[in-house]
Amino acid sequence: MKNKIKYWRSILALLTLFSFGAIISNATADQSGLRIPEQVTGDLAYDHLCYLTEEIGVRVTGTEGAEDAADYIIDQFLQMGYEVEIQPFTFERRGTLYESENIIATKHGKFDQTVIVGAHYDSVSERVCADGNVSSGAGDNASGVGVMLEVAEVLTNYKTKGTVKFIAFGAEEMGFRGSRYYADQMSEEDIANTVTMIDLDSVGVGDFFYVYAGLEDNPGWARDLALKIGQGMGYDLRTSPQSEFFDGGTTGDWSDHVPFRLLGIPIAYFEWMNWDIEPDGGIETEEFGWVMHTCMDNLSFVSHAKLEFTADVVASLVFELSKTKLPRAEKGKIAKGNKYISIQKRSDLPN
Ligand SMILES: [Zn+2]
Repeated sequence: MKNKIKYWRSILALLTLFSFGAIISNATADQSGLRIPEQVTGDLAYDHLCYLTEEIGVRVTGTEGAEDAADYIIDQFLQMGYEVEIQPFTFERRGTLYESENIIATKHGKFDQTVIVGAHYDSVSERVCADGNVSSGAGDNASGVGVMLEVAEVLTNYKTKGTVKFIAFGAEEMGFRGSRYYADQMSEEDIANTVTMIDLDSVGVGDFFYVYAGLEDNPGWARDLALKIGQGMGYDLRTSPQSEFFDGGTTGDWSDHVPFRLLGIPIAYFEWMNWDIEPDGGIETEEFGWVMHTCMDNLSFVSHAKLEFTADVVASLVFELSKTKLPRAEKGKIAKGNKYISIQKRSDLPN
């Protein structure tokens, strides 16, 4: 009798295990049964990064490098089966007229609630050092584009109820012109429908893994959800500390998230950085100081693992955000001061 009870107990335990397993895998598994983190390897992100930096090189707005990068990204999205829109724009800077474009790939859901995943594809001009190091914009920001493309590819295996827009922004290094243009073109309805903007800027080099909300009244729930997902996966995912210039959990107006935070859209901005050595804005690495915008910003300073970890968390976050309809209160509200805030705490960063 005792044995029989034991037998049924173990059968029950097995059944529970199986049904629980099924619930979990139903939530995020594609037809092969693989869950998102199992599909993310960082390999695709790394390959894209290699192409952008080794085949193309620096990608300064207005040069062939930036155009080649745009063509490459368009091609990649089309190969994945995405609907791709090219959004050209022009701007004047220091007396010169520049042309650039944003590349928008859309995954339509059942409803209009939209998550934006953005990364800029341009870079600063080439930096050369006496030690032989030459920059190619590997960390800033072929890393963000690579991760975005891997996430886009993994998500083709999943049905999302909400809409996901992947946007490769042009001309970030000239004052986030692409993201500003994109945000300017959004209708009231687009703004109301956009529940989160995920910014990927420099995710392959820094010492530690961070996610932030924007300054001021930017809602923090998307950042908090990212932290919960990332830490739940076992990653040492952090946010910025409270400091003289920053509310803990926020970061400065120096990337493509800014035009969206000014529209009140919740931000989850991913970056690899080190705020331990500089609590007012961070410095990229303890060992080398800044790598971005220096001659060291090349393939040899990029970590494959950092790309993988970032893609892991971002893919899971995007899926989570587009799984269900969010209540209205979880959408953003318009920020109070509708202007950029200049915090010069990244002034050591060469421009
Ligand atoms: Zn950047």
